[in-house]
Amino acid sequence: MALPKKKTSRSKRGMRRSHDAVSIPNPIYCECGELKRSHRICSACGTYKGVKRIAVQEPDVAK
Ligand SMILES: [Zn+2]
Repeated sequence: MALPKKKTSRSKRGMRRSHDAVSIPNPIYCECGELKRSHRICSACGTYKGVKRIAVQEPDVAK
């Protein structure tokens, strides 16, 4: 089996991993101020284009 000739240095390993971080795709702010994805119903207030689409359960304050 083919093996690398040299151990990958900390620097080269870090350069490779600089692109590994996962980011939220296309994040925008809803009218309610919550971060949401575009073309999706807001999970916090349940609205899409200013129209209430789904009922959203209020998160439990007592935790
Ligand atoms: Zn919202």
